[in-house]
Amino acid sequence: MKKISGLMSIITLSGCFNIFNQEKKMTKIKKIIHHQIPTEQHWVGDGFFVHTMMQPHPNTYPMTSPFILMDYAPPRHFSSSTIQKGVGEHPHRGFETVTFAYQGEITHRDSAGGGGTIGQGDVQWMTAARGVVHEELHSKEFSVRGGEFEMVQLWVNLPKNKKMSTPRYQGVKDKDFPRFKLGENCEGRLIAGEVENKNGPCLSHSPINVFDLTFNQDEDVELNLKEATNTVLFVLRGQVELESKSYGAKNLFAFSREGEKIKIHAQADTKILVLNGEPIDEPIFAYGPFVMNTRQEIIEAINDYQSGKMGHL
Ligand code: MN
Repeated sequence: MKKISGLMSIITLSGCFNIFNQEKKMTKIKKIIHHQIPTEQHWVGDGFFVHTMMQPHPNTYPMTSPFILMDYAPPRHFSSSTIQKGVGEHPHRGFETVTFAYQGEITHRDSAGGGGTIGQGDVQWMTAARGVVHEELHSKEFSVRGGEFEMVQLWVNLPKNKKMSTPRYQGVKDKDFPRFKLGENCEGRLIAGEVENKNGPCLSHSPINVFDLTFNQDEDVELNLKEATNTVLFVLRGQVELESKSYGAKNLFAFSREGEKIKIHAQADTKILVLNGEPIDEPIFAYGPFVMNTRQEIIEAINDYQSGKMGHL
């Protein structure tokens, strides 16, 4: 870096700065176009006390697409219980629910036969597609033991032609996510997509990259992302500096499609979640647990659920 700035100052002094810029083809920086501060917490069932950081709304969806919702349950202590807390039987149609267990354990069971328990660092990727009924609960073992619980749930949209496809369940262990380094002090964990020539194990239905970054020390990093993609950055803990301003945990940002780079400065012990993807530029019509393209499709979803077409547990 020192060599480059030295060279730049020499060229600047000799009056050739413009030529240098043209040769370098200046990478454009993606700009913050949306900032969500932490919202009021609310209960989802009796197991998840969340901040809804992103929700399906026609005003914000074009900036976050294909990501439609994010609930964050920050670290919270649950005492030992014989009852498994969480959310009982409910349906979904039209998208994928992705659950990141940062602390604690979650058990899932769905009407398409999918199910499993995820623990610390694991991710559950459930493609509801044409419809499932599922339950999401603290695992039996975690409930009995009690302890710290922290989770992110993300909803990833499906393109119109995949909304009525077959449901799928993927449960991936922490150890199976490839790691990559950004600079000396930042480690990435790749959940889905491709970063630094590595591939994440979770399969999606549209081109996306999902990863989290953990900073052990102060560090400046640059994320190289494609032009014409959306990027959402969520601060799980610590302190980041973006566009010369400092932000703590529970702040969410969406960046312009234009540009190919995001610069982040983070302090020691910072953890952030990064979502990047090709936008699905189709209309959304969201109602409770269903996200479709039209009102008519929502009415059909409600009817199909009520008549049992999405199955039962
Ligand atoms: Mn659900």
